[in-house]
Amino acid sequence: MRKKIVAGNWKMNKTLDEAVALTSEVVNMIKDEVSGEVEVILCVPALYLTTLKKHIEGVNRISLGAQNCHEKTSGAYTGEISAPMLKAIDIPNVIIGHSERRQYFSETNAQLAEKVNIALENGLTPIFCCGESLDQRQNEDYIGFVKNQITESLFHLSAEQLTSVVIAYEPIWAIGTGLTASAEQAQEMHAALRAHLAEKYGKEVADEISILYGGSVGAANAAELFANPDVDGGLVGGASLKSRDFTEIVKAR
Ligand code: PEP
Repeated sequence: MRKKIVAGNWKMNKTLDEAVALTSEVVNMIKDEVSGEVEVILCVPALYLTTLKKHIEGVNRISLGAQNCHEKTSGAYTGEISAPMLKAIDIPNVIIGHSERRQYFSETNAQLAEKVNIALENGLTPIFCCGESLDQRQNEDYIGFVKNQITESLFHLSAEQLTSVVIAYEPIWAIGTGLTASAEQAQEMHAALRAHLAEKYGKEVADEISILYGGSVGAANAAELFANPDVDGGLVGGASLKSRDFTEIVKAR
């Protein structure tokens, strides 16, 4: 059975003190209030990973993730962090190809394929993001566009490698905008992506892959989105910065 996952993407938010306080609150609420099989991943600023690791140690179901890594092992890439660096501090997850990275740092599908490779080589779980813009949704074959992102960044993987990847479908028009895909729109895309995976890797493998929805997920809409058969959880931006909202989203899964 594929995993149910709720991941928080803190982006470039919180000072260290605030990050510690938020982590402690989330840890306590999740411990006290969450049952069932959902996994929680906190994708925090890289600078805080080592400190926050101490605050989640021994806590059932919660792990940390980075928000990006470079596609090379090491070298003269000022300001970047590498997958081996994450591995060395025992960080198990990394977001790859968030739309903000694609937009502001011009990350391409081919480059993201390399990032996925280096993450997997270092034992990290890539949370691979994909999704269309509003313009693409209105004027293009938007499902074909997202399928192509997956083809170009993931379809070189073996079936075994693919099962170590988590996919996050995040329509760009819904990220940070307060606009959410309807439950039907989310299910339409998730089912199409799973069928796309099944065409290449077979149904059994496709059924193993967790596909998360992201885009203005909040306490009020999480349950409806997560009720879809192909929505295995969420990647949560804004609402992950508030412990109560984030915990309610986790409980909805
Ligand atoms: C995100 O950035 O991954 C995201 C989904 O943001 P938000 O929940 O704020 O729309």
